[in-house]
Amino acid sequence: MTLSSVRPAKITNVLPGSIAEEVGFEVGDAIVSINGTQPRDLIDYNFLCADEFLALEVLDSHGKIHQVEIEKDYDDNLGLEFETALFDGLIQCNNRCPFCFIDQQPPGKRDTLYLKDDDYRLSFLYGSYLTLTNLTQKEWQRIEAMRLSPLFVSVHATEPDIRIRLLKK
Ligand code: SF4
Repeated sequence: MTLSSVRPAKITNVLPGSIAEEVGFEVGDAIVSINGTQPRDLIDYNFLCADEFLALEVLDSHGKIHQVEIEKDYDDNLGLEFETALFDGLIQCNNRCPFCFIDQQPPGKRDTLYLKDDDYRLSFLYGSYLTLTNLTQKEWQRIEAMRLSPLFVSVHATEPDIRIRLLKK
């Protein structure tokens, strides 16, 4: 992940009665940064938005940038929903399992059916399974620093040699 691969977080819903509605957020707006940091996913967004004082850079649907300041109670949710939880794209699997169900998909289906999701963020947020074989040192450090637990690991086999053979690492 590079900072340039992080896209503004596009809003798909503003919850009625929420802080975001009161401030005037609209569907189609996108959050560029929060207190000077560009969130790369929903985990960053939730972490950054927990603060009492928020300085948001917001891109509206006409391409205009707005600076929005919000003062709220610690941990209060803004009431925004986004088109995706991953603002920098999906981390895919780098294994080559001989039984891979994705490789066995027939051709001609929608693109998302061919994505090999192995993204620890989706495991933390939604409980999807992952193998932990594709993480850089930086991602391991982030998991530790942000205490991203539990993660749901598809072990395949507990014997290291057999696991390596199954995952074709
Ligand atoms: S880990 Fe899952 S997606 Fe990746 S190759 Fe193995 S079966 Fe396919």
